[in-house]
Amino acid sequence: MVQRVDAMAAFPEQWFGQRTVLCDGAMGSLLYARGASMEHCCEELNLTQPDLIRAIHEEYLEAGAAIIETNTFGANGFRLERTGLKDRVAEINRAGVRIARQAVQQVAGKQAARAYVAGSIGPLGVGLEPLGKTGLEEARAAFAEQIRALAAGGPGVGADLLMVETMTGLREAEQAVLAARATAPWLPVMVMVTVDESGQCLDGNSPESAAARMAAWGVDGMGCNCSVGPATVLTAIERMATATSVPLAAMPSAGLPRCVDGRNEYLCSPEEMAGFAGKFVRAGAQFVGGCCGTTPQHIRAMKAAFGVFDGEDSAPRASCREAMVTAIPSVQRKEAEVDRL
Ligand SMILES: [Zn+2]
Repeated sequence: MVQRVDAMAAFPEQWFGQRTVLCDGAMGSLLYARGASMEHCCEELNLTQPDLIRAIHEEYLEAGAAIIETNTFGANGFRLERTGLKDRVAEINRAGVRIARQAVQQVAGKQAARAYVAGSIGPLGVGLEPLGKTGLEEARAAFAEQIRALAAGGPGVGADLLMVETMTGLREAEQAVLAARATAPWLPVMVMVTVDESGQCLDGNSPESAAARMAAWGVDGMGCNCSVGPATVLTAIERMATATSVPLAAMPSAGLPRCVDGRNEYLCSPEEMAGFAGKFVRAGAQFVGGCCGTTPQHIRAMKAAFGVFDGEDSAPRASCREAMVTAIPSVQRKEAEVDRL
């Protein structure tokens, strides 16, 4: 029997549209950096090494993250089939939520702010019709299988919200949203796309058209994650903000990886990422965190850059944004923009 965690309340509706919320950073790249095998399925570690996953969640919470993502990015039937784990989708996703919840509980006593668990949902890793072989209904069914497990137990036991992320195509993202609404209609859904160096979504959509389409699906939040680093994500967020009033999320990778001694090293330091944190907020992002290559050090530095922007005790976003914009003279802002190019 799953025990209800009394300390956890449902994800607060008012977090959408009001507060700036710090999210966590990478899981996969951090696991590799800590010695997990590249050939290994990251999500299987939920079953085989839960303590390793829980320790990373706890580090992010202690760094100030108010939302942590489950280690379930690739835990859909298509991806797990490749490592012979197709029949363990439910088990791996449920374990992912349970481990994240345990971390939140573990750290809860030390933190003033409440933290929440987002169920991470990545792309299926297959081509959709007409370019690929997988039909839309089949894709939706695979997302539904994963979401059913992430949401299992309902409010306070399953995930608090769903993050559909690193989406390379809107048709696939839409199937994830449809599956979420049908399977776990009580859960808020955020969708983040990834953009290439030119700032376009990988299916050719502009950030503006992607934002308009995602808004039409009725998502609770949308944004851009991973991509080629913080500068491209910032531009994408600025452009999305012109096309929608839906709360935005910015969670960039720490730049493109460089292979050093057989391991990926990321070029964007915690300090550089912190320098972007305020820019994301000024551009309209309400949820800010990191993707591949970011670490608890990056999140800690971003939190320091935010100052008062953390979860429960943060001021409403509008006034924070005003404060930051007025605190930085326009000449400096222009210079910062030039720096970014
Ligand atoms: Zn990433």
